[in-house]
Amino acid sequence: MKGFDFEEERIKQEISKLNAKRVLLQLPEGLKPEAPRLAKIIEKTGALPLVSADPCYGACDIATSEAESLGIDLILHFGHAKLLKHEKVPTVYIEARATVTVDAAVEQALQLLAKYSKIGLATTVQHVQTLDAVRELLVRAGKVVVVGDAGRVIYPGQVMGCDFSNVKSIAHDVEAFLFVGGGKFHALGVALATSKPTIVADPYDNTAYSVDVEAKKILKQRWASIEEATHAKTFGVLISLKPGQKHIEEALKIKEDIEKMDKTAYLFAIREILPEVILEFPTVDAYVNTACPRISLDDASKFRKPVLTVNEFRVVSGESSWENTVKKGLFEN
Ligand code: SF4
Repeated sequence: MKGFDFEEERIKQEISKLNAKRVLLQLPEGLKPEAPRLAKIIEKTGALPLVSADPCYGACDIATSEAESLGIDLILHFGHAKLLKHEKVPTVYIEARATVTVDAAVEQALQLLAKYSKIGLATTVQHVQTLDAVRELLVRAGKVVVVGDAGRVIYPGQVMGCDFSNVKSIAHDVEAFLFVGGGKFHALGVALATSKPTIVADPYDNTAYSVDVEAKKILKQRWASIEEATHAKTFGVLISLKPGQKHIEEALKIKEDIEKMDKTAYLFAIREILPEVILEFPTVDAYVNTACPRISLDDASKFRKPVLTVNEFRVVSGESSWENTVKKGLFEN
C-alpha cells in the first residue's frame, strides 16, 4: 500500500532483538490489506506471523488476551501511537506515518479559513510530521498559528478519537481549527470538543471542507438520545473487554447511580458494541457505554435504543446540565 511507512527494517530488528518466535500483527481496518505482505516479511525472518483478523479501532485495543492464548512473543500494532502504560505482552507500535504531501489540501483549506486570523492545528499520528510545514504555509498567508501540547497523547497537535486535550487546551486562543488528515471522524471530534469552526484539509483527496453542519446535527441527535433515556426504566451498563476501554469501577458506580434513581441496571460485558447485540435485550430501554465513547456518537443512527456516553448519562442522572456537558465534552474524561 502506497502512502504509508510500515518501517519494515525496524520490524525485522524488533523481532531479532526479542528473538520472537511468534508474532501477532494487529492492523486497523484501513491498513489490513497490507497484512499478508507484512506477514511474508516476518516469515522470512524465521518467526511465525499470525494476523489478528478482528476489528481494531485504536491503541486502546491491544490484542493481549488473544496473544496470551496463542503463545505470542511480540505484538506488532500498526497505525496508532502508544496509549496503554503497560502491555502484558511485548508490543511494538508501528505508527504508519503517511507519506502523502499535504500542501495542496492546506492551500484549499486556506480559502475556507479566510475570515479567521488565529488558527489552531490538529492532526492524527499519521500526519504529525507535517505540522511544521502546515504552520509555515498558514503563517505565510498571514495567520497566527497555535498548536496544543497537553494531555496523554504523545505528539503536539495530535488528536485521538476520544482525546482532544491538545485542541481543548488552545481553544480559547484561536478562532477556528484546521484538521489535517483523511475523513471526518477526528475533525468532528475537534468541532464537538471545542465548539469552534473546524475545517478539514484532506491530503488523500486534496480537498478541504467544513464539518460544522454535521457537528451540529450530532449535537441535536445526542440531545434527543438523552431525552429518550430520561424515560428509561431499565438500563444496561456496557463494560468493554478491550484493555484500554475497560472501566469496571466506573460502570459499578453508574449502576449504583441508576439504582438510586429507582431504576434497574444490568451490567453487560461486551467486546464489540453492535446494533444486533443491543437488539438481543428487548427489556433494556437505554444503555450507558463505558467503552469507546465514539461508538455512542458515530453509530447512533444504527442503534434502536439510546446508547449514552458516561458524560451524557450525567445529564440524565442530574449531576450535570446539558450546557455544561457540551462545554466539558460529550465523550471525553
Ligand atoms: S476508545 Fe475509541 S476513540 Fe478512543 S482510542 Fe479507543 S477506539 Fe479510538
